[in-house]
Amino acid sequence: MSRSAKSCLLMMTMTALLGLGPGSARAEPVKRVALVFDDGPRPADVEPLLAVLAREQVAVTFSLVGARVDENPGAARTILAAGHEIANHSQTHAHPHELADAALDREVSAAQEKIAAVTGRAPRWYWPPFIEVDDRVRAAVARAKLMIYTPRHLVVSLDYDRTVPAAEIFRRATTDVSDGSVILFHEWREETRQQLPAILAELRRQHCVFLTFSGLHTALEGPSRP
Ligand SMILES: [Zn+2]
Repeated sequence: MSRSAKSCLLMMTMTALLGLGPGSARAEPVKRVALVFDDGPRPADVEPLLAVLAREQVAVTFSLVGARVDENPGAARTILAAGHEIANHSQTHAHPHELADAALDREVSAAQEKIAAVTGRAPRWYWPPFIEVDDRVRAAVARAKLMIYTPRHLVVSLDYDRTVPAAEIFRRATTDVSDGSVILFHEWREETRQQLPAILAELRRQHCVFLTFSGLHTALEGPSRP
């Protein structure tokens, strides 16, 4: 990303942190939202997606699977270099309830170690596969000394369901979006990428600004809390 794109992102982040819309102080309050793209990285999917996000000057969170980072380390580094955040989306994307405690620990810690080794930066957030969170998942994540990102409100685009058509992904991704929403997408869904400029345009019309998980957490909770 160019320096001017980065400074524009910084300005947008500052605007979002202050909770102000672009323009006058009388503008409608912005909705601070985070887009998350799950299940990567795969170069064939992530590279065109990063190109769209760069054109749109939007920073998002990629929740990456450790085993895929192992296969595509360069893609993980490219995501960070472009100004996006990486979250831990487990090592193999297994269902937690199918795993014994030790295996669940490894799902969390192996991905954490892999992403840190490849990118030089340990993720701050765990983003659970299948959005499955229970006491065992919470305990495993705490043992790995990271945190589950818990959205104030989750908008599910349903793009992981291949029977859901493009128009429905658009409708779901842009409906019932509020301040603090996380909007869930998948890196591998081509229809999501194709529609992303239209989705972002509609969300901007609804006064949304776009932050990473950490940016949204800071905007909503303030920098002092963990
Ligand atoms: Zn997933």
